[in-house]
Amino acid sequence: MALICPQCGKAALYLETGGILGDIYHCKNCSYIGNFVIESDDPDLSDELKEGRRAEIGK
Ligand SMILES: [Zn+2]
Repeated sequence: MALICPQCGKAALYLETGGILGDIYHCKNCSYIGNFVIESDDPDLSDELKEGRRAEIGK
């Protein structure tokens, strides 16, 4: 099971801290910080996110 960053779709998360706010994850790839992460066995989950990013870039 890998933890996937919801922002960039990479499995580059590490656990920043566990405290009164709960577990906070930090992405080494895009500097996302938050407690929402995607759990997946598929390291290539990022397809959907990439599509969204492509749409943004295409503007
Ligand atoms: Zn990220």
